[in-house]
Amino acid sequence: MKFGGTSVGDADCIERVAALVTAQVTEAEVAVVVSAMAGVTDMLIRAATEASRGDREHWKGARQELARRHREVADRLLYAGEQAQVLPRLAEEIGNFENLCSGFSLVREITPRAMDALSSLGEKMSALLVAAALRSKGCAAEAVDATELIVTDNHFGNASPYFDETAVKTRDRLAPLRRRHLIPVITGFRAATREGLCTTLGRGGSDYSGTLIGGALEADEVWIWTDVDGVMTADPRLVPSAHIVPEVSYREAAELSYFGAKVLHPKTIQPVLKRQIPVWIKNTFNPTCPGTRIGAARVDAPPGVKALTTIRAADLITVSGRDRLGFSELAARVFESLSREDIPTLMVTQSSADNVLCFAVHDADLLHVREALEKAFELEILHDYIAPPEVLPQVAIVVLVGENMKGTPGISGRAFGALGKRGINIIAIAQGSSELSISLAVASGEVKEAVTAIHEEFEL
Ligand code: ADP
Ligand code: ASP
Ligand code: MG
Repeated sequence: MKFGGTSVGDADCIERVAALVTAQVTEAEVAVVVSAMAGVTDMLIRAATEASRGDREHWKGARQELARRHREVADRLLYAGEQAQVLPRLAEEIGNFENLCSGFSLVREITPRAMDALSSLGEKMSALLVAAALRSKGCAAEAVDATELIVTDNHFGNASPYFDETAVKTRDRLAPLRRRHLIPVITGFRAATREGLCTTLGRGGSDYSGTLIGGALEADEVWIWTDVDGVMTADPRLVPSAHIVPEVSYREAAELSYFGAKVLHPKTIQPVLKRQIPVWIKNTFNPTCPGTRIGAARVDAPPGVKALTTIRAADLITVSGRDRLGFSELAARVFESLSREDIPTLMVTQSSADNVLCFAVHDADLLHVREALEKAFELEILHDYIAPPEVLPQVAIVVLVGENMKGTPGISGRAFGALGKRGINIIAIAQGSSELSISLAVASGEVKEAVTAIHEEFEL
């Protein structure tokens, strides 16, 4: 069971979590993975950033807030004996926070490696509290730092796990706890390199921690507890009439999360694929709702669009090889430069007669993309051999996802029609031959109207 930030957001929430876990322990053996309390990771990152700019006050405020929120949970939920154990350990983490921020403010910089150690402190603190809350309910539990379980490369900030090493390490470390019937309460988000340096799995990465641990333990199921009833037909904040989808295939879930459905971290599905472990998305605040089951595709699933997702802040980049660089060479060099910098592309289109390549990237990556392309084509641009890349900003991408869109004619036509009727211009289109998704780029100001129109058109 993985619990997200809102699910462990305060004392009431953590009490609810403890009840959900204890309700299962007679039915099954449970391992728990937790995120930091809601808002804590953002707070840690902001404090560190301000400190590195030389602000020596901001993080002191954050320190108070951090101490207050965790202390309040301890006061409300833990027996005196538990408090005596947990409070010094929380104080130790807050001391680490202070030391790191003080260091950043002195040297006026943060390395990605130091940022990982700092930004994942919230998970260490929430794991301590959730384990203690379980013990206070009479349920034997122990907090475990995932740096002892998940082994990754040293790509700080967005590390990639080594699956086999992680499986061995996780099983070895958790075996003694299992023998003693102790529930491990594991920090999400955090991991470590082979040398033991703390890394993180990217923002929202606790979902990934959940399936990594589930995969390593060969769990029967992974339950991801969050603050919505399941995977919805669209982001409920954009389309209020969105509703829950009872079943989603692994490929659909991967596609939805890659294209921005925040309910799942983009890499969540990878670790459970090999053993086809089902993943359930469930609502901590409405636990009787069964939620969404993510599993193998069903042959009898109805045809058509299953859900929509959006990336709201993207840019379209156009690179033209003119009559100087052939399309294949142009594309090869563009993608090589992006892959070297680890920059994902969101959609790609080509118009090969005049050697034009157009692709979309996350707006947060734009600066990086410009630098990568300017470096890759430095000489050509200097000698006006090809034009500098053109950027169209403020673009949003709406993605229609459905395993069974394949072989169903007319889906794109209906989507275009729905947008056309409302006067929404489609800037670019991409659909792969797998027909698992269709991506449409529109102006970002029109994204809400665009998703709502398509949601209505397909009666989702
Ligand atoms: P957690 O802290 O539990 O990991 P997140 O905030 O990361 O929760 O993810 C849950 C949120 O994802 C929901 O509150 C919802 O606003 C958002 N979301 C975006 N797209 C979807 C979707 N298609 N289905 C469900 N939720 C979505
Ligand atoms: N706490 C981390 C974050 O906010 C990881 C997570 O919540 O999944 O990104
Ligand atoms: Mg999340």
